[in-house]
Amino acid sequence: MQYHLIIDLLGIKDKQVEVWDVKEEPTKLLVELYTKIKKQTCPSCKAKTKRVHSYRKQLIQGPNLSNTSVKIALRKRRYLCTHCHHTFYEHLQMVDRYQRCTNSLQMSARTYSAIGSFTDAARLSGMTTNRLIRLVDRHPLQTKKVLPRAIAIDEFKGDAGGERFQTIVADVENKEIIDILPDRKVDIIKEYLQSRDT
Ligand SMILES: [Zn+2]
Repeated sequence: MQYHLIIDLLGIKDKQVEVWDVKEEPTKLLVELYTKIKKQTCPSCKAKTKRVHSYRKQLIQGPNLSNTSVKIALRKRRYLCTHCHHTFYEHLQMVDRYQRCTNSLQMSARTYSAIGSFTDAARLSGMTTNRLIRLVDRHPLQTKKVLPRAIAIDEFKGDAGGERFQTIVADVENKEIIDILPDRKVDIIKEYLQSRDT
């Protein structure tokens, strides 16, 4: 596939963003992007600068392209203002855009997980179950000492801590996940329920 076509397919409008490499993996496409130097306006003193300070690689989940998940590795530039010595990252429209995509994707995935099974949630939000679980893991849930009036308990296949299955506890009325237990053993669930106030 031609590189400029990939930029178009990914909906990237930033003119300074170019494709460095594309790697096709069995289940995903890894697109490495870099940016060309562009004159920047210092957000602090408004002076113009083209002096590069450093780089940082940012990993972004891109949109699916014909059912293939796209991972984007973006090499972002940090600029140095030669006038006031302030350093700042270049502003890119694509990052905002994908951040929003990712946020709404996360939101819907979490809502689905709270009302249905984890497998359904993954299917409905178009991500793998393991990715969904990692996503929930990254955002530690607030554990409520008092359980809500109606809870739903469901098991899902995860890979956290070497246990094959984990248990999700959801608040049915508020449609939110309240806890994830390390496995699905009855003892663990019993212990959890007994540790809560009712
Ligand atoms: Zn400055």
